[in-house]
Amino acid sequence: MSDNDDGMRPSTHRVVWVTGAAGGIGAAIAGAYARVGAKVVATDQRPWEAVPGIRTITCDVTSAIEIEAVIAECDRLGGIDTLVNCAGILRRDDVLEITPQVWDRLFDVNVKGAFLCAQAAARSMISAGRRGSIVNIGSINAEKVFADTVAYCTSKGALQAMSRAMALSLAPHGIRVNNVAPGAIADTRLEPTRWAQAAERDAMRLRTPLRELGASTDVASAVIFLGSPGASFITGATLLVDGGRAASV
Ligand code: NDP
Repeated sequence: MSDNDDGMRPSTHRVVWVTGAAGGIGAAIAGAYARVGAKVVATDQRPWEAVPGIRTITCDVTSAIEIEAVIAECDRLGGIDTLVNCAGILRRDDVLEITPQVWDRLFDVNVKGAFLCAQAAARSMISAGRRGSIVNIGSINAEKVFADTVAYCTSKGALQAMSRAMALSLAPHGIRVNNVAPGAIADTRLEPTRWAQAAERDAMRLRTPLRELGASTDVASAVIFLGSPGASFITGATLLVDGGRAASV
């Protein structure tokens, strides 16, 4: 941390791009950044209404053209400092039934989409000489897996490896890349049917050492920290936000 930084100063989050920002976790992250004084560019694949003060743009993270349009908007606001790759999809399929199309779509969104956004953000940061930060929203499912989410678990493992590899590639430019791995987060749309069932929620609580499901705001706090000067010596890391689940047998 530099001498004149207090670790969480809003001025250090000047322009922040959050993908998947119409969803539970993305909206919480966008809101948290807006509250610390950032100019937030929130994107998602469909139009939606965010809280006042947050600029929303429709952007499918698999579209290089739409990504460039977002970078251009960030440039108009002064240039991107922080990217949060939050867009993601989950599918439950029997391993013997997964089609190549389902596999490709999961990897297109969860891995390639995150890569394309990170690459575009890094290019912009480097051309402006800005030491920025990239935070990818991975998952505890890179480590603790379910039998019916093979493609999803594999994609989140790939995202975690990508975060570490990009951390090394971009370190010479002073750009930090980290991964936040949430456990079960209740207030999102990712698994509407699963978490809507009380029995399923209770089972997950019992598997979690802290005996709670997480909230989107728990993930947002971790993201804000990793993007802040307080985390200026942290890169290539995965921060678990999982109530202790990964530590348990
Ligand atoms: P949500 O479904 O609420 O949010 C994800 C958002 O990403 C949705 O708005 C979704 O749109 C959007 N999205 C999907 N595909 C694209 C695309 N191609 N381009 C742009 N946006 C897209 O889920 P969460 O908030 O829970 O998930 C956020 C992230 O957190 C994901 O990466 C997820 O894997 C991860 N995560 C979530 C956990 C949980 O328990 N909820 C646990 C661990 C990780 P649409 O609704 O139209 O699909």
